[in-house]
Amino acid sequence: MQNNPTAATTRNKDDLIVITGAGGFIAGSLVKYFHDSGFTLIRAVDKKPLPKWYQRVPGVENLSLDLSYRENCKRAVEGAVEVYNLAADMGGMGFIERFRVECLRSILINTHMLDASYWAGVQRYFFSSSACAYNTELQEDPNARALKESDAYPAMAERGYGWEKLMSEIFCQEYWAERKMKTFIARFHNVYGPDGTWDGGREKAPAALSRKVIEAQDSGELDIIIWGDGHQTRSFMYIDDCVKGIDMIMHCDDLIATPINLGSNELVSINELVIKIENIAGVKLERHYDMDAPLGVAGRNSDNTFINQVLDWEPDTPLREGLVKTYAWIKGQYQDRKAGKPTPAGEADDF
Ligand code: NAD
Repeated sequence: MQNNPTAATTRNKDDLIVITGAGGFIAGSLVKYFHDSGFTLIRAVDKKPLPKWYQRVPGVENLSLDLSYRENCKRAVEGAVEVYNLAADMGGMGFIERFRVECLRSILINTHMLDASYWAGVQRYFFSSSACAYNTELQEDPNARALKESDAYPAMAERGYGWEKLMSEIFCQEYWAERKMKTFIARFHNVYGPDGTWDGGREKAPAALSRKVIEAQDSGELDIIIWGDGHQTRSFMYIDDCVKGIDMIMHCDDLIATPINLGSNELVSINELVIKIENIAGVKLERHYDMDAPLGVAGRNSDNTFINQVLDWEPDTPLREGLVKTYAWIKGQYQDRKAGKPTPAGEADDF
């Protein structure tokens, strides 16, 4: 196969940056990050209709396109210098354990986006992979050791969602190996923050638990349902660290086609997470444990040795600090919705 025909190497503030999944949480914040950093040509793409996007940044070209179709991907990347592909049909455990077909179908997005980017002469291509790509057998204990990049193989990824990420990583690696398009792959560990899903079935633990605490306080029924026994452990990365990390990874040539962890290594159990949120809210709730709820792996943490070595940096926002901002944002959304104002989250979803 021929080399990428028009690839060049410079980066200017007026280079066209394309960000997909921009109606969602992380990509929406990435659009804002590049806009605030002075980039003038940004195209944001998502399949959701514009009123459902969490953020719409002034001066940004917003397109509503379903990127599982090749023609739409070609349109999305026209003239792009850099492409950040974060579009995926995804959610927290409640979603990815129930909707494996939807998760697997996201491979269409990355397959078409990669190929369209290659033919459009895109210089750099970013893919948002996940810690769900790691071998699940290494995560069967809440005290499991942190996951390092080599732990994805021998492969036994999370059913559906994790295998899609692993396969899409391989696509990215081969577009570099065979075609010399520079691809970059970050394995995100749970990301949280304002402007993301907090209701409706796709939300992840920090947002879901914040909402439950807010609902309990609001109703006066001081109970909370926790999925599992609450001993399962995770680390959570604040959104500001995530977007900064994406930028650093994308512009580090030592990381071409090399998957790297992008996550916090501040490990907490779900019970500890609940306590932190209760403290922020100033409330104490009676726990009820739902042992039939979707749980995911027992323990997962990010080994940050490699990112420290290559970038001399790692996500470092303390969990409590990020939760304070996230909780405040969700509370505002909750109150807006209660007052009858339109909010992007919390409406009936289409899955
Ligand atoms: P999100 O659901 O908030 O955003 C994803 C967006 O992709 C949504 O707005 C959705 O409408 C859009 N999308 C889905 N299918 C599409 C299609 N066919 N065409 C165009 N747009 C489509 O999720 P997020 O948390 O912002 O995640 C962004 C990326 O990061 C995803 O690839 C996800 O798998 C990955 N990731 C996220 C986390 C996390 O903790 N949030 C962890 C690991 C990996």
